[in-house]
Amino acid sequence: MLRITQVRLPINHSESMLRDAILTRLDIRTQHLEGYTIFRRSIDARRQNRITFIYTLDVNSPKEDEILARLAGDPNVSRAPDTLYRFIARVRSPLRERPVVVGTGPCGLFAGLLLAQMGFRPILLERGKTVRERTTDTFRFWRKRVFNPESNVQFGEGGAGTFSDGKLYTQIRDPRHLVRKVLTEFVAAGAPPEILYVGKPHIGTFRLVKVVEGLRKAILSLGGEIRFQTRLRDLDLQDRMVRGVILDGGGRIPCNHVILAIGHSARDTFEMLADRCVTLMPKPFSVGFRIEHPQALIDQARYGRQAGHPLLGPADYKLVHHCQNGRSVYSFCMCPGGTVVAATSEPGCVVTNGMSQYSRNEPNANSAVVVGVTPDDFPGGPLSGIAFQRQWEQRAFALGGNNYDAPAQLVGDFLADRPSTGIGVVAPSYRPGVRMSDLKNSLPDYAIAALREAIPAFDKKIRGFALEDAVLTGVETRTSSPLWIVRDKDGQSTGIQGLFPAGEGAGYAGGIVSSAVDGILAAEAVARSIPEAEQLD
Ligand code: FAD
Repeated sequence: MLRITQVRLPINHSESMLRDAILTRLDIRTQHLEGYTIFRRSIDARRQNRITFIYTLDVNSPKEDEILARLAGDPNVSRAPDTLYRFIARVRSPLRERPVVVGTGPCGLFAGLLLAQMGFRPILLERGKTVRERTTDTFRFWRKRVFNPESNVQFGEGGAGTFSDGKLYTQIRDPRHLVRKVLTEFVAAGAPPEILYVGKPHIGTFRLVKVVEGLRKAILSLGGEIRFQTRLRDLDLQDRMVRGVILDGGGRIPCNHVILAIGHSARDTFEMLADRCVTLMPKPFSVGFRIEHPQALIDQARYGRQAGHPLLGPADYKLVHHCQNGRSVYSFCMCPGGTVVAATSEPGCVVTNGMSQYSRNEPNANSAVVVGVTPDDFPGGPLSGIAFQRQWEQRAFALGGNNYDAPAQLVGDFLADRPSTGIGVVAPSYRPGVRMSDLKNSLPDYAIAALREAIPAFDKKIRGFALEDAVLTGVETRTSSPLWIVRDKDGQSTGIQGLFPAGEGAGYAGGIVSSAVDGILAAEAVARSIPEAEQLD
């Protein structure tokens, strides 16, 4: 199979134009084009009067060798790489010891799935509830302010990204094509097949819920087991080796291999790890606000007269500004046509994040605008980043009125340094609600100064970004893990045999797909360390 990259066509092109483009690029006749598939399709909107699709295509032709020889110097024509995932180990008859995976976010689900596919019959532990029950609890919080610290946006089957935009792309280096494995499993579990080729795939919250259920079924059908409402309370360590896990309520599961896929908000579990002298290191992350604009404003700024074109869909953006005070501000987790959500996992805290449905048809665009912070900003031990996050989350709770409303301010007022008293043309989407106030004391001074400089700078790239009535809602603090659970090259925690920290909480991923890929790597690391397993690579 041949791969052709950089095939550019106008957004209104027909299928025959795509075929013709292949024939022209390869300089072949129709009878020598046996078929083709779209490997990737992305949008180039840098020039509004010439918005194009850019295709990467896989082409079948009986003339493959001749074409490759003739176009040897063309960087955009090559043999298509083999992207098939191959298992690195297999277990033919059940092992006595079953590996344990803690957490069923994307990392834990993929670690569990891979272990199950290799025959290890893993046991997955999840402190929260099944995804449907968890959805009920989360919506109850958003609608009625009833908060459940074990079942919320961060905790429960599917992990932190379940109530999200479901963006399924990542910028990680991927020489083994593990992203392809993740997306292929997503499709097998019920995601739309287009995620395999669309440049920036997303599936939205409700489809993600179905996919999570599909992944669960796959794990169970392969002999895996999932225990919900089962929190890992402690590790049973002997001579710095894992011998079992202790559950909330006192039960113990004997095991020699534990994948810790606990996400970035398992603060009690991080404390337990510190008590057990697991090597932890404080890590940089970012803090800021969610900003909301009318989606039509973003579409107009990005696509000009093509705004609203059904093939383009609602526009997104990605912005960065380096500030005079040395900080960087960037947009993060942008959700076109979405809503701002309450994402705390602790009582008495307010945390923002964003989500959308597959249709992305809500009136507002939202994104986090965040400022990078480093351990120099929160000196202390490895847990000091958590204390830093909590301090601002509790302050936001107080500024919001101590009832889980979030503090909010109009961009015009924020830039002019005056409190907001009402809303304008943009209706804030955060539920249970917002309290219009003054955000200047809701984050450290350097972060406020950086945001006040960055928003007008972003307005030069996205006209209208500094719209007077755009709404800022605070605070966004759970952008990534505040610490690393340090691991060695073999994937095991430094100094503790049998403990495999993985995913976003351990500091090795950021996002649904990269966490899932890290789950695959953790499963492979476990498989390599079990001598009874037949090693295949
Ligand atoms: P998590 O998903 O956090 O999963 C950890 C799991 O471990 C949780 O289910 C938790 O309940 C469980 N757990 C924790 N402690 C214990 C314990 N002691 N015992 C048992 N279980 C435990 N990323 C994207 O790529 N695209 C997006 O569109 C996107 N949108 C997002 C929207 C929101 C609202 C949020 C909150 C996040 C979003 N993210 C998005 C980020 C993404 O969700 C995370 O990067 C990803 O979920 C991390 O995966 P993980 O498996 O490492 O951890």
